[in-house]
Amino acid sequence: MTNGSDEYISREFPALGTINGIYIYGSGRAETLDEAQQRVTFLESRLSVFREGSDIWRLNRAAGKKPVEVSGETLALLKAAKEYGRLSSGAFAATIRPLTALWNVTRPGAEVPDAEAIDDTKELVRDDDLMLDEASSTAFLKRPGQSVDLGGIAKGYIADEVKKIIDKNGVRSAIIDLGGNIVAVGTRPDGGPWQIGIQTPADVRGSYIGSVCVSDETVVTSGVNERFFMKDGVCYHHIIDPRSGYPASSGLLSVTIVGRSSMDADALTTAVFVLGIEKGAELLKSQHADAVFATNEHKIFVTEGMKDRFVIKAEKQNVNGGI
Ligand code: ADP
Ligand code: MG
Repeated sequence: MTNGSDEYISREFPALGTINGIYIYGSGRAETLDEAQQRVTFLESRLSVFREGSDIWRLNRAAGKKPVEVSGETLALLKAAKEYGRLSSGAFAATIRPLTALWNVTRPGAEVPDAEAIDDTKELVRDDDLMLDEASSTAFLKRPGQSVDLGGIAKGYIADEVKKIIDKNGVRSAIIDLGGNIVAVGTRPDGGPWQIGIQTPADVRGSYIGSVCVSDETVVTSGVNERFFMKDGVCYHHIIDPRSGYPASSGLLSVTIVGRSSMDADALTTAVFVLGIEKGAELLKSQHADAVFATNEHKIFVTEGMKDRFVIKAEKQNVNGGI
């Protein structure tokens, strides 16, 4: 993104297991940044699977025992997550947690689990067993050992919530960056569109395959990023295919979605990463979403709507349009 010598205020802070940044251009107020940061940390305390006492933590602890009361917004997010499970024929799963916990790819000395353990754990991943009741604002996991992980959708939802705060405060030019999950608010201070870099898969932060021009839109990437371990030349990363129980190996290294809702884009990138390019492109079409795909053969594909918007950076890569 470019800011030239424009005046801006910013806030960078750790939350959601990553580093987040909020940048307000023009005459922004520190109070807006405070409010935005507070909203992020509050939502983390509600939605994090790791945070003791969070809605999700309590839901998981009560699996197989009893329904737990959760906030209206947690319930709505759980409902949206289930809906993405349905739309993606189970590639996205709200109840993925038993598998992500088993793999735990970021722990030091992470190993490939036993095939038997993977098979047994896979049986617990079943979104139909996540019961939501709006009348009583409760959620319930039917079987002991089941658990929810909103890691594939929550950051997008939170980014949308931050945008609401930024808009409400009359800001016309801002960037929200929740660990690479970007929302570009309004336009650049000079009125031009924001140019957002799309990160190189499996590469260090700050290296880009290309960029896209956006205004009032979100740019969200899922893929092999910092969270993986290598074993015998195989990359075991953090997005699990619920059907196999193994890290997704659909031939994609990353998927980037450009759209209006960061929550939708977040869930869709995770789903498409699992589904692969063909089935993923079908899902995107049905959702009127546009994307850039990077494959493990170092090719880049873009959906029809992205053809005129995506600017490639590395010359040696081929761009193939018209998916
Ligand atoms: P990132 O968090 O790196 O931006 P994603 O949005 O793709 O990337 O989210 C990946 C996270 O989603 C994982 O760390 C895990 O918490 C969760 N997850 C992994 N596999 C799935 C899946 N098949 N369905 C839903 N959530 C998943
Ligand atoms: Mg996601």
